[in-house]
Amino acid sequence: MLHRWIQGLASLKLRRPRSLASRAALLTTTFVVVTAALCATTLLIGAHRESARHQIAVLSDLTIHAATQWGGLIEEGRRDELDRVVGRVIARATVMQVSLHDAHGGVLTERVDDRRGAALLEGLEQRARESGEIAIARSGEGVAFAAPMMRAGRMIGVGLIVWTPDAYRLNAFVALAPFLLIAAGLVLISIPLTAILVRRAAAPLHALTAQAERIASGAELAPIEIVSHDEFQTLATAFNRMTARLDESLRRIQDIAFIDPITQLPNQDRFAREIDFALLQDGSELGAVAVFELQRIAKLRPTLESNAARDLTRAIATHFAEATRAVDKLVAPAHRGDRRALAARLGADEFGVFAPRLASATDAARFAQHVNAALNRPFEWRGHKLALGASCGVALTPRDGGDAGAVIRRARLALGAAHASPARVRLFTPALDREVNARLNLEREMRGALERNEFRAFFQPKLNLATGRIEACEALARWVRPDRTIIGPARFIPVAEENGLIGPLSEAIMREACWKAAAWARAGQPVKVAVNVSALQFRGERFAEGVLRIIEHAGLSPDQLELEITETVALEDPERAARTIRPLRDAGVRLAIDDFGCGHSSLSVLSKLPFDVIKIDQQFIRALSRGDRQAVAIIEMILALASALGMEVVAEGIERREEMDFMRAHGCHWAQGFLSGAAVSAHEFTELLRRQASEEIAAEDAA
Ligand code: C2E
Ligand code: MG
Ligand code: MG
Repeated sequence: MLHRWIQGLASLKLRRPRSLASRAALLTTTFVVVTAALCATTLLIGAHRESARHQIAVLSDLTIHAATQWGGLIEEGRRDELDRVVGRVIARATVMQVSLHDAHGGVLTERVDDRRGAALLEGLEQRARESGEIAIARSGEGVAFAAPMMRAGRMIGVGLIVWTPDAYRLNAFVALAPFLLIAAGLVLISIPLTAILVRRAAAPLHALTAQAERIASGAELAPIEIVSHDEFQTLATAFNRMTARLDESLRRIQDIAFIDPITQLPNQDRFAREIDFALLQDGSELGAVAVFELQRIAKLRPTLESNAARDLTRAIATHFAEATRAVDKLVAPAHRGDRRALAARLGADEFGVFAPRLASATDAARFAQHVNAALNRPFEWRGHKLALGASCGVALTPRDGGDAGAVIRRARLALGAAHASPARVRLFTPALDREVNARLNLEREMRGALERNEFRAFFQPKLNLATGRIEACEALARWVRPDRTIIGPARFIPVAEENGLIGPLSEAIMREACWKAAAWARAGQPVKVAVNVSALQFRGERFAEGVLRIIEHAGLSPDQLELEITETVALEDPERAARTIRPLRDAGVRLAIDDFGCGHSSLSVLSKLPFDVIKIDQQFIRALSRGDRQAVAIIEMILALASALGMEVVAEGIERREEMDFMRAHGCHWAQGFLSGAAVSAHEFTELLRRQASEEIAAEDAA
């Protein structure tokens, strides 16, 4: 049972107080209580002993006094009085036995109430008689006194009294009870007092702990004020210094994380946070997120040395921020308060504006148009006048997305469409989203198609106008779906140009064209093959190398291949274009300028690059058919120019015999168009060549 009880006690888990102040208070209280208990015990034991000693002395005096009285009565022979006096003594509750002895030890009188103290009397009377002094014996049973009865200096006998222990044992507890009660009261008062004092002393520590916990839980960093002129104050000062340094470091980290280091404008993360914050504060408020892209600068940047590029970026950022501020004042509604538009740098040549609290979608569009117009005004930098070529896409909060990510994404979608729009500014619409999704689906399908080899070269014949024979062709890309439907390049070439698939796609077409041309040559029907080159492909570092490798693998004579480049591609960077072309021309590959007359600098391109062939764009042939005299003049001029420069001319889009006759009569070399045939599969084209050959043989035979 006891064993179980001890086990139960041991299993009890005492809850330790957590705070330092509570611990100090508990410790002090325990100390006070234990000290008080020890003091009280010591006091009680001491008091008990002292009172016994004092009482015994009193009893001893009493006995001597009685013995003196008894001695007088014995000598005077007043036996009755003696009996009465002894009777009074024995009648006391604290006296157990009284006896009187003569000088020889004989008993004169004896009165016994209680025999418990009898053992004490052993030899006591004799000791008093022989010494002539009082003899004392004490035990748990009581205390016995033997006092000599003296008369005129002579001992006439011995008087004996045996007292009960109660006679000398004063109840010290009872005597000290009031003091003990006062002491206990003081201890009880001292406990809360100690707690209060300790708590007050530890208050600065409390304040410091609370502050540290607040900071740890992410509250704003703030200094703490403690005036205690002790270690706590030193600790608080050190703590404040520490939080100040932490604050400074946090601010620096935020700057690094949220400010663009070159322009000092907020970066994309900060931009997104501000939009999210505005959406959180008032989700129903109309705001505009505009994303601007500076396309001309993107092209100019790679040609600049890095310090100059940084300087230009900084100048553009200032120009952009100023334009935003000016427009903000113009459009800002009165209720906007201090909520101004936020300008940010989102990418190398991409900037953003978030204009909160707008009145309508029209205001949003107006805002974007004004900033875009300001950006497109000629911009002065280091003495040059630059055109930034800015386009802008706008999306609205909260209409176009519940968070910054969604709204910015949609503004970027609108930006993509803005590049192609005449105003260069587009507001996001759900239709745009659908368009983009359709485009993404198409992109996914195209990747699969490329792997399955569904992009094939079709061949459109080119007629040599001098001989009337098909002696060349143009390879045109077609997407032949598994269900045999054929998709034209207008659907997939622009998408491929955007997503980078144009590289592998064009290479596949070029490879097939070269292999087929080589096969026709081997079969004794050589035809020159022209292949279209995209801007992205032409810009590639190893373009020429790749073309030469394909020719070699195919076993095609290089002079049988013609590369068609548009003037925009050729003029992008004429020096680089010349470098790219050189090894190809050295190898014997011919170079044609496609869609001639469509661009703005058709003549200048001729002086910059060594072309072999000019392809007159079909719009001039169409105009020719309409009887447009200007078109006639232009065609005549192109033909004269080509003849002067020793170049061949191909007329594109010949659909009627009159067109072909006109071109032949004016010295054009080649005709390409539906009149002589649209683009057909390699198999059909082979068939066409075979038919031509057999017709020629038949004609020869007939001749
Ligand atoms: P392009 O190089 O100017 O090709 C001539 C376009 O005119 C072809 O359209 C052809 O089918 C069309 N055409 C030919 N004769 C006539 C005619 O008499 N009347 C009319 N109305 N049109 C005629 P297609 O095949 O749709 O190609 C369009 C453009 O796509 C090409 O223009 C070329 O720029 C591009 N393209 C085609 N294949 C490739 C390719 O493999 N790589 C690259 N990078 N671009 C290609
Ligand atoms: Mg072409
Ligand atoms: Mg063309």
